Amino acid sequence: MRFVSTRSKDISAGFSEAILKGLAPDGGLFHPAVQPDLAGVFANLKGGISFSEAAAATAAALLDDEMGAGAAARIVERAFDFSPRLRELREGLYLLELFHGPTCAFKDFGASFLAAAMEEVLAAEERSATVLVATSGDTGSAVARAFHGCNHIRVVILYPSGRVSPLQEKQLTTLGGNVTALEIQGSFDECQHLVKQAFVDEELRSRLSLTSANSINLGRLLPQAFYYVFAWSALPAGARKKLYFCVPSGNFGNLTAGVYAWQWGLPVAGFIAATNRNDVVPRYLESGRFTPGPSLETISNAMDVGNPSNFERLQAVFGKDPAAMRAMIRGGRASDEQTRDEIARVYAEHGLLIDPHTAVGLCVERRLRPQLASSAGSPAPTVIVLATAHPGKFEEIVSRAAGAPVELPAVLRALRTKRKAAVLLDGSYAALRNFLLSF
Ligand SMILES: *Cc1c(COP(=O)(O)O)cnc(C)c1O
Repeated sequence: MRFVSTRSKDISAGFSEAILKGLAPDGGLFHPAVQPDLAGVFANLKGGISFSEAAAATAAALLDDEMGAGAAARIVERAFDFSPRLRELREGLYLLELFHGPTCAFKDFGASFLAAAMEEVLAAEERSATVLVATSGDTGSAVARAFHGCNHIRVVILYPSGRVSPLQEKQLTTLGGNVTALEIQGSFDECQHLVKQAFVDEELRSRLSLTSANSINLGRLLPQAFYYVFAWSALPAGARKKLYFCVPSGNFGNLTAGVYAWQWGLPVAGFIAATNRNDVVPRYLESGRFTPGPSLETISNAMDVGNPSNFERLQAVFGKDPAAMRAMIRGGRASDEQTRDEIARVYAEHGLLIDPHTAVGLCVERRLRPQLASSAGSPAPTVIVLATAHPGKFEEIVSRAAGAPVELPAVLRALRTKRKAAVLLDGSYAALRNFLLSF
């Protein structure tokens, strides 16, 4: 399978090269040159298979040509010691819980697969690399946790001193081994700027084989398609006839992965792009115009994205044609107030606590459902809403909205007693450079 830049078809790469590069050299994102046909593979996956089986079959069909038979299965086995769970809320409505991984959010799937895939590639080439990332909290912990224990990869993670939550700091600083946390006396933007400087520093780059692991990396995107395949296969046959996925979205990686799965032959009737008031994509679907802006703060803050980077990949799928995108994707938004109401409603109706991101999805689903409802004779719609984070990660918002206590998940509770280990650096590039060259 080959990948080309969303900005130029002349720039192409295999999977291994694409994941080590991250971004295409022209600043575009790697995207399948031709979407493969996996309908035959999916047809064999119906009924009660595990997530690992769905992931291994899909990954093998995508990658074994390039990486050799068995490589995809090894990557999947190394990456996933956790699974999604499909929960029926009522007839025709399911939650796909993606928060049973080590940091309790769906980003664990992408980060774990990327780490395992990089390890496989580097081991085969008998070399090593250094992943350098700046984080304002959450994404960094999924990445650090995913790469922890890799033999061929060191991780250096920069975070702004005093500006991440105590729990997030524990997530970043208690891993040890091949993960080094640098506590920077500066803001998140300054951390990001330091990382950018390091990436254009030729000596540093080549001596450390620097690479990145950010969310636009193809190695984080492709594995997110696996849980769409798994969810479809786990449904009862009758519920598969007219299937929609509703995806709480910010940078639109999750939704793009679902759209890829559909392009590869997964029988999906449509998608719902659910956003908070950062609604640039729903507005595009209404008006045909893409007008990105600065991000606005909300209580579903992992979706506070004013200019979603994966929109380029969606444009590549739909040929920049709003009508074509509209035929497959509907959009909807929820305000903070509606999000809180949804948390309360779901708790009252189902006794279930949900996080604010998932609540955006369920709120939009409820509003759009009449549009999906079947005309006489056609099958009733099934909607699977992606539940992207554990409610315990947003304890305060959720318990206040639902009027019920929320428990922190056990894996996060266990962090409280662990000891922090970080290297404190002033915000200068010289300090970072010296540290990296000497360790
Ligand atoms: C990152 C994130 C999202 C948004 O996902 P995208 O792929 O960026 O659209 C939604 N919910 C949670 C909890 C997240 O962490």
